[in-house]
Amino acid sequence: MTELLPNHVHGSRVTGTGPGTLLTDPVTGAELVRVSSAGLDLPRAFAHAREQGGAALRALTFGQRAEKLAAVAKLLQANREAYHAIALANSGTTAADTAVDVDGGIYTLGQYARWGAKLGDAQALLDGGAVPMSKDGLFQSQHLLVPTRGVALFINAFNFPSWGLWEKAAPALLAGVPVIVKPATATAWLTQRMVTDVVDSGLLPEGALSVICGSSAGLLDQLQPFDVLSFTGSAGTAEVIRSHPVVVKNAVRLNIEADSLNAAVLMPDASAEAVALFVREVVREMTVKSGQKCTAIRRALVPQALYETVGAAIAAKLAGITVGNPRDASVRMGALVNREQFDGVLGGIEQLAALPHMRLMFDGRRQPLVDADPAVAACLGPTLLGCDDPDGTAAVHRIEVFGPVATLMPYRDIAHARALVARGEGSLVCSLYGDTTPEGSAALAATATDLAACHGRVHIVSPSVGSTQTGHGNVMPQSLHGGPGRAGGGEELGGLRALGFYLRRSAIQADGAVLAGLGAVALGV
Ligand code: NAP
Repeated sequence: MTELLPNHVHGSRVTGTGPGTLLTDPVTGAELVRVSSAGLDLPRAFAHAREQGGAALRALTFGQRAEKLAAVAKLLQANREAYHAIALANSGTTAADTAVDVDGGIYTLGQYARWGAKLGDAQALLDGGAVPMSKDGLFQSQHLLVPTRGVALFINAFNFPSWGLWEKAAPALLAGVPVIVKPATATAWLTQRMVTDVVDSGLLPEGALSVICGSSAGLLDQLQPFDVLSFTGSAGTAEVIRSHPVVVKNAVRLNIEADSLNAAVLMPDASAEAVALFVREVVREMTVKSGQKCTAIRRALVPQALYETVGAAIAAKLAGITVGNPRDASVRMGALVNREQFDGVLGGIEQLAALPHMRLMFDGRRQPLVDADPAVAACLGPTLLGCDDPDGTAAVHRIEVFGPVATLMPYRDIAHARALVARGEGSLVCSLYGDTTPEGSAALAATATDLAACHGRVHIVSPSVGSTQTGHGNVMPQSLHGGPGRAGGGEELGGLRALGFYLRRSAIQADGAVLAGLGAVALGV
């Protein structure tokens, strides 16, 4: 029988009851570990985090908490190889793809440690300056930010078991708020192992970090008015969470990161160099983590005249991607997370291909696998579809196939391209590919400003930054992550802006002499 991983709650390691859920290797089908949250004393787990963990974190200054984050980042860095091994076994990712998750998470944590150190010994933050409210100017209003007196519950998606934890935990812990994470079951092992290492190290106060693996049953029932809930996952689950009676009744602050039909747009009159950058980025986004990235390019838009040639260029590059067992050094693209996801992606490709005006430009389903049994492995080559009439194919702007799948579509002019992009009804990111000639820069800036209304991030690639740009789908802690509408309406990261979710804003109205004694520092973002 495989090991049943313990949860970390109320300062103890607690193994769930029953057989638990089995986690497997998506390439070989090997049985790995099991997880279970059955039988946990959830009221005790939440109370302990809220009372012990919260009080201990709030007793520290921002600077002291930042030091703890730095120490945690160092610890994780020291154990990096073990995390890469777990990701290889449980997520079936290549070393480069694992790095996005594991090393990306550690980098984000380190970044918040550096930003937090600048907040020094403050225990509260100033939001803007004091504003006079009386004729003599003496009576003023000052907005103050203080840690919420609750727990932060994270319900995370399967694709980033490391980064998904740390990109949320870094700002939460820095803000002084304890964390309970419930990773997606399929890949819970890596999150569980990282939390175990941190808890065992004693670097964080007891109760500051807990992990519950397995079913989410009963978790939302524990939420109280000062708790916050950060969810990452599908739009369908997001809908269930938003309307949960306890979330509604207690007005629990909610952040939702859901799915997204992100677009990439090749600008009209783009240079050959910009076209090449577009082709490279579309291929990269389709294949990194087998396309299991919420930010991946799902819709690629090109001027009508370039539709066939760009389609052929992308297809030619996709044909060179080796797919299969990431343990083989020649493999560029590893597995999907499991056979269930594999079947879902196959179903999604069939659904898209059956839509009117659609055709297959490159069919990854025929790609041979390297060192993997097609009957067992969740490995699938990348597939590019073409949509000849994106105006007449509404569903291509709605169906997210969470795998190595994208659709190329032609547009008439830039106004048409903007209108098509907006049909995603709110996305995490849109990227534009053009040139920094005076006319090119003006067109890029105007298009970005227009698209900003429906995107959390607009990423502009030109030959001038071709080798230094951070990538369409890479979420950097310096920039906002999240998007309006269909993308969930959430906001994460963006430097110290991320702390806002975990802090309560209160207007303190008083004689300026009182306000001068608040002892808070400005939240520089
Ligand atoms: P999912 O099926 O919605 O699951 C997400 C999380 O919710 C998992 O931890 C899951 O637990 C939990 N969950 C499921 N039903 C629940 C319920 N009724 N109450 C409370 N929690 C519940 O999503 P996924 O398949 O893991 O992830 C893929 C999706 O996430 C894609 O659509 C992708 O676009 C999106 N995503 C978005 C972002 C972003 O930042 N915007 C990032 C990554 C992924 P179990 O695993 O135990 O079922």
